[in-house]
Amino acid sequence: MLARTHIMSAVSLTVPLLTTMPIEVHFSFVTAVVLGSLFPDLDEKGSFLSRRVYVVSLLISQFTEHRGITHTLLALPIYFFIAFVVMHLGGASLFFSTIIALGFMIGCLIHLLMDSATRSGVAIFLPFSKKRYYILSKSYRVFTGGKLEKFAILPLFSFIAAIEMFIYLSGLQYTGNLQ
Ligand SMILES: [Zn+2]
Repeated sequence: MLARTHIMSAVSLTVPLLTTMPIEVHFSFVTAVVLGSLFPDLDEKGSFLSRRVYVVSLLISQFTEHRGITHTLLALPIYFFIAFVVMHLGGASLFFSTIIALGFMIGCLIHLLMDSATRSGVAIFLPFSKKRYYILSKSYRVFTGGKLEKFAILPLFSFIAAIEMFIYLSGLQYTGNLQ
């Protein structure tokens, strides 16, 4: 999937979660989700995020092929742990570090879900099994960067995210949090 599809799908699927957390963390949570939605593709040197943190990508791609260990269920708790430690060592409270780590991990999880809708699928149980998994039957699988993704999936998630953002901002106005 393209970076923008990963971002829009992750945002649209997580904005409803904002209702469960205090308003102070909303922006940081969504930022963590967006970063998480791009992070697994650091294993691919040409990806959107890799081109911005090339050295990190170079390092990660030495240890794994594309859609290898960074695209697994095993990596999810590790993503949570890394984000939590980085935030907490950076001086964030336990609560805030947990929220950010959670957002980051959820972003990564949605990345895996979206990639598993593509024709290449994802071997989510690596290193224990090389079997690739798909959430769609063969004829519906998406070709990355193809017409289906660009003209249907991306616009659909962008539309959902826009509606959610509208509802969210209206809610803020209603509760007086946005003056
Ligand atoms: Zn990926």
